[in-house]
Amino acid sequence: MRPSNQLEKYRHMDNVLLHLHPDFSEELERVILNWNSVQTEKRFIGVHLKRDFEKSLLTKGAIELTKAFQLGAQIRTESGFSPDNGILIFTEKRIFEGNYYQLYYGGSEETDPYPIVDVVSLDFIRNLFNQLKKGKDYVFQAILSNILNAQAQGAGLLTHDDTRGCILDFCNYMPDILVGLENGPKFCPKDILNVKKLHKEYLFELAEVVEKRRYKIDNDKEVNTRILSSEKPRLEENASEFDYDVALSFAGEDRRYAEELAKELKHQNIKVFYDGFEKANLWGQDLLVYLSDLYRLRAKFCIMFLSNHYAKKLWTNHERQAAQNRAFKESREYILPIRLDDTIIPGILDTVGYLNWHEERVTDIAECIRQKLLIRR
Ligand SMILES: [Zn+2]
Repeated sequence: MRPSNQLEKYRHMDNVLLHLHPDFSEELERVILNWNSVQTEKRFIGVHLKRDFEKSLLTKGAIELTKAFQLGAQIRTESGFSPDNGILIFTEKRIFEGNYYQLYYGGSEETDPYPIVDVVSLDFIRNLFNQLKKGKDYVFQAILSNILNAQAQGAGLLTHDDTRGCILDFCNYMPDILVGLENGPKFCPKDILNVKKLHKEYLFELAEVVEKRRYKIDNDKEVNTRILSSEKPRLEENASEFDYDVALSFAGEDRRYAEELAKELKHQNIKVFYDGFEKANLWGQDLLVYLSDLYRLRAKFCIMFLSNHYAKKLWTNHERQAAQNRAFKESREYILPIRLDDTIIPGILDTVGYLNWHEERVTDIAECIRQKLLIRR
């Protein structure tokens, strides 16, 4: 793709592409103008997304961090920029990496296959700020702080676990976020020194632009309301947007059963999420996350292999019990249990129909699943 003349003149500069999210594109463009006028190190460029990319990023669900980096890199290429220019994109999806959810942010290193891409999840930010009394006044400000945090990390600064009301406070911890917002986007004394040591003084100018905006917070009312009320995804999600038809959930000890079914499902052209096919070590300790979130978001059904091993894995941690119970209840239509033995699993209601592995042939089980999928469509 040939860059336009408009872009050509920026090519020699250090560019940062910022995704103009439809909820706050005008406001962000205004900030971009200011950022570009106060310093000469970084040239910020707003980019609107093509519909394909919007569909990938601005629908609900979950997205693997690497996949998000890849999308960011693609958007950058299609906008006519090389991989040495930074890009920051927003997504409505929750970001996950292996067993864990990144609460709302992930950034790739220069050495990564998709370098210098930052991804911010608005899903999490909205949930967070909708719970706060003051939240509705600060959400756009928080988004800007996030961009600053990404810029600072990109410049080689490190986040710190202790809360100092600093741009580099580790942002996954709620009190930090509030302190940071009430304090305005500032660097702590240690990081002021670090910024100077690294000769990244332009970061001060960027922070100051956002700091000045604090006094215009009243003007943000409209955009904040818009951001916080965006509970519905911009684009309707339909069943075909699920990554998988079914996901298999099982204890490691029961792998042989899961594998047998996975192969049969694959044979019948049913899209199955089974870690043996994924070649990723996804079956760690945190089954709960998968049950309640990941599976639900990525697959139409979850096939659960119930056994004494499974029960042990699930109920070892008492604190989780309530949450799991809830997850099961909410997932009644979604969980299709297969019993490997007679173990009773609290939360899986007796009313949920189940198949007994030892009474069925694997081909019949696969056929049942295929029927379920037909009804669901
Ligand atoms: Zn700091």
